[in-house]
Amino acid sequence: MSTLKKRSWAEPFKIKMVELIKMTTREQRLKAIKEAGYNTFLLRSEDVYIDLLTDSGTSAMSDEQWAGLMLGDEAYAGSRNFYNLEAAVKKYYGYKHVIPTHQGRGAENILSQIMIKKGDVVPGNMYFTTTRLHQELAGGIFQDVIIDEAHDSENPHPFKGDIDLQKLNALIKKHGAHKIPYVCVATTVNLAGGQPVSMQNLKELRKLTHKHGIKIMLDMTRIAENAYFIQQREKGYEKKSVAAIVKEICSYTDGATFSGKKDALVNIGGFLALNDTEKFEEASNLVVVYEGLHTYGGMAGRDMEAMAIGIEESVNDDHMKARIGQVIYLGEQLQKAGIPIVLPIGGHGIFIDAKKFLPHIPQNEFPAQTLAAELYIDSGIRSMERGIVSAGRNAQTGDHYYPKLELVRLTIPRRVYTQAHMDVIAESVEHVYENRKKIAGMKMVYEPKYLRFFQARFKQKPAAAKKAG
Ligand SMILES: *Cc1c(COP(=O)(O)O)cnc(C)c1O
Repeated sequence: MSTLKKRSWAEPFKIKMVELIKMTTREQRLKAIKEAGYNTFLLRSEDVYIDLLTDSGTSAMSDEQWAGLMLGDEAYAGSRNFYNLEAAVKKYYGYKHVIPTHQGRGAENILSQIMIKKGDVVPGNMYFTTTRLHQELAGGIFQDVIIDEAHDSENPHPFKGDIDLQKLNALIKKHGAHKIPYVCVATTVNLAGGQPVSMQNLKELRKLTHKHGIKIMLDMTRIAENAYFIQQREKGYEKKSVAAIVKEICSYTDGATFSGKKDALVNIGGFLALNDTEKFEEASNLVVVYEGLHTYGGMAGRDMEAMAIGIEESVNDDHMKARIGQVIYLGEQLQKAGIPIVLPIGGHGIFIDAKKFLPHIPQNEFPAQTLAAELYIDSGIRSMERGIVSAGRNAQTGDHYYPKLELVRLTIPRRVYTQAHMDVIAESVEHVYENRKKIAGMKMVYEPKYLRFFQARFKQKPAAAKKAG
């Protein structure tokens, strides 16, 4: 028997080029966050040391992808790179038709416009900010049908992204299937903490929706990460490749919106995929209005090439093991220090439970927003609020939505940071945790109308302001 307790994995790549980052002092950071209205979205990136704002468009491309940029065919119509992208989508996802868009929300806009009529109900496994907004702008009403476990940050359920079929059934009974154009299913549900949906659940959902003639549209932004969790956790999938699981997930759906900025390892890009030829034609016509011709849809030829290559790299088993492995490493460091985080550890980042971290700050004083600002002040790491600010206001009542989960997201870009960076992050979170009792909440002093979390500004409550001097 081997005497080794464990065998470590490491990244399946080596580093060819580095990007230097600025180191800042606490005084510089205090000034920067104040100028940013205590909103990490409004910081200048050059003032950030480790940027965990998002995994969106922040991944490191491979040498193959960079080489792909040089193969850009920048023709207005029928670019070679479009056909390469189309071939990748067909090969790895299996959809019949694809329309490029500048990023995921471009696809959401078009999908919502061609599928949703005023007063329609669109069930989904938890909302996503841009997805829900486009559904609402098209006249739809979003209804959350995720399982209850997803709203409990400590529940260890392995597939907290699953849809509660009873909730969905109740909606079908209440409104009638004709009022439900499709169910929007997200893979590794972002706002639940990067939690996957199981294949079993998708199969059952397919059966139920088929019976009622309701379509399933995938928000497939992080599908490869979801597939990895299925491989690790779901019986019968242990021996299947991430690529095979990805394709099976898609096979239970009718189409998808995709942000290439996540799984697909590019800085910009997205697409809408559809199996229905009539709907595809409608969408191809509409894309001309909002994005560009249907063979580039707001993307440069070179970007379509890089995305086609990134799609292939994203479903590689070793890549996924290192990707999720790094996230789990950071999560375990935080768990050891007793930091309240969403469990199980999710796919694209660690989600700190700000209600538990700062129990003395009421939700309408923005505990997660406050914590994100404190982490920046402590070490220059930039995180993001995913709580009451992100949830926005109920258009009917005008009051805040009060989401059960009030989270700070430490999102890990793909192939960008090292294990030493993960250690620095964990130590900073621990340090803020030790001093948490001194932290006071904030009030919102500027609130934009749409997706307010991007641009809202805050002021520290008097106690905190005094402390910061
Ligand atoms: C990022 C994201 C989107 C939107 O994609 P963009 O490329 O940012 O427009 C949609 N859904 C989910 C779950 C996302 O994470």
